[in-house]
Amino acid sequence: MINLIDSHAHLTFEELSASLESVLQSGSAAGVAQCIIIGTDTEQNKKVIETIDKYENIFGAVGIHPHYASDISQTDIDCVRELAEHKKIVAIGETGLDFHYDLSGRDAQKNLFKALLAIAAESNLPAIIHSRDAFDGTMEIIDKFADKNTKIVFHCWGGTAEQTKIVLDKGFYISFTGVITFKNAVQARDAAKIVPLEKIMLETDCPYMSPEPFRKQKINEPALLIHTAQKIAELKQMPLKDFADAVTKTTKRFFNLP
Ligand SMILES: [Zn+2]
Ligand SMILES: [Zn+2]
Repeated sequence: MINLIDSHAHLTFEELSASLESVLQSGSAAGVAQCIIIGTDTEQNKKVIETIDKYENIFGAVGIHPHYASDISQTDIDCVRELAEHKKIVAIGETGLDFHYDLSGRDAQKNLFKALLAIAAESNLPAIIHSRDAFDGTMEIIDKFADKNTKIVFHCWGGTAEQTKIVLDKGFYISFTGVITFKNAVQARDAAKIVPLEKIMLETDCPYMSPEPFRKQKINEPALLIHTAQKIAELKQMPLKDFADAVTKTTKRFFNLP
């Protein structure tokens, strides 16, 4: 039996929360035994807590997406710190920089990122990094402001070979979405070949990023994680079961899951 962990799912978003029971059932039927659900703002962080309180196999991360950096106040940051004390909160995130959409000013994004890295250090939790078109800036802030003991994962990875090597040299982790199945995602596939099994994690980033062959047809959900796993196992020329076992072990260790 294939056993996977969806390490980055937005199950509290409307697209999925309305039918959460059936979403979880199809997920576990497709081998997804545990999910980590990710907060993006105060409202979502609170929903994350409600959901992990309700479902044994769901764990959470609290954070504030860089998109909202210009709109938040100190209260939102304090709320992350407070919710991080919950025993099923296993990471801070998502947090980082998004210079692709630039929905918030870059200075505001940087300040928020620093504040959340400080909470990760204080809470002794890993940080889940969202970095889009902002690799150098992201690395600079991590280098200067992250605690050396904070475990770091770059989510939804699609970096160049050179960036992949830099991240691995620092001892950080890399997580892949269904994007890896897209025809033009050559860079993500090349990266997956060089990330060792003890540094690799899988995620849906649902409701977004449905893998092929469902890219255009379906809202993403944990049940579709298997397609991402299959693709990477194939790239690594490994049996799916062996690959899934190795990645699940890595994910449990990274997030300290039972
Ligand atoms: Zn993200
Ligand atoms: Zn996300």
